[in-house]
Amino acid sequence: AIDESSVIWFDGALVPWREARVHVLTHALHYGTGVLEGTRVFETADGPAVFRLDEHLARLERSARMLRIELPYKQQDLAAATVELVAANGHRSCYLRHLAFLGYGSMGLDMRHSPTSVSIASWDWPAYLAAERGLRLMTSSWRRTDPNSVPPAAKATGPYLNSALARREASDAGFDEALLLAPDGSVSECSSENVFAVRDGVLRTPPGSAGALEGITQDTLLTLARDLGVEVRVENLLRSDLYAADEVFVSGTAAGVVPVASLDNRELPSAEGELTKRLAQAYRAATSGADARYRHWLTPVRSA
Ligand code: PMP
Repeated sequence: AIDESSVIWFDGALVPWREARVHVLTHALHYGTGVLEGTRVFETADGPAVFRLDEHLARLERSARMLRIELPYKQQDLAAATVELVAANGHRSCYLRHLAFLGYGSMGLDMRHSPTSVSIASWDWPAYLAAERGLRLMTSSWRRTDPNSVPPAAKATGPYLNSALARREASDAGFDEALLLAPDGSVSECSSENVFAVRDGVLRTPPGSAGALEGITQDTLLTLARDLGVEVRVENLLRSDLYAADEVFVSGTAAGVVPVASLDNRELPSAEGELTKRLAQAYRAATSGADARYRHWLTPVRSA
């Protein structure tokens, strides 16, 4: 839920929620020239902590570089601003949205004449995907963008139109989430989650070359799985690999680890598989600080 009495970090200062505004001629509003991050703060025994903050900010920087958006702040300044914001808003846990976008300056597509604005907002966002019995997915008629049209490796605002079209199509058809295929027909990812398949104990997920975002939750789960002794493979998958899987689940910062019950009305053997359960549990132990092996992923926030 959004708390309009909280503050937003906007271009170097904490401002009241209602004052974090932009002009209608903001470049990014017209052309989608922005990059973003979604990060979570989890409750730990030592207070709130940002999960894998450095990796999120590094991905923001890579996304900006791909779009030729110049970030006016260093990564360490954005890290300090993030911690300051969470402390100022007094969250025990929350979702964070970092956004760097071309602002008001001049119209037209040439990006060189618009200043870059940066904002960080925080709010409580319990569970992005509701799934009491596992998600019902459908393969979207929309393909993930070709990397030579718009690079899916950049987490950028404009390209989310691709995800939004797929998500809306899935909702209209009564499904929970959309699975997108790459231009070559291999499995890419969901509208805002990476996808995994388990068969005969082997965990598989598509690579960046299939148009999947380098998900930080995806990377976390691959690490946790390896540490559990599970064989993992980052490789191309066909939609039939998902139909034939023992288990399918999706992962993302907002969603967490969410089991898939069916794809295109093909039911998986169970609504939540054994490995999915173990990985969801390992993820909870890592994000809560309960598993000491992964504490280096947590940036503590000392309350204001
Ligand atoms: N794919 C897409 C298209 C996404 O928007 C997201 C959410 N950022 C993910 C995958 C999952 O990435 P992460 O685990 O880093 O949140």
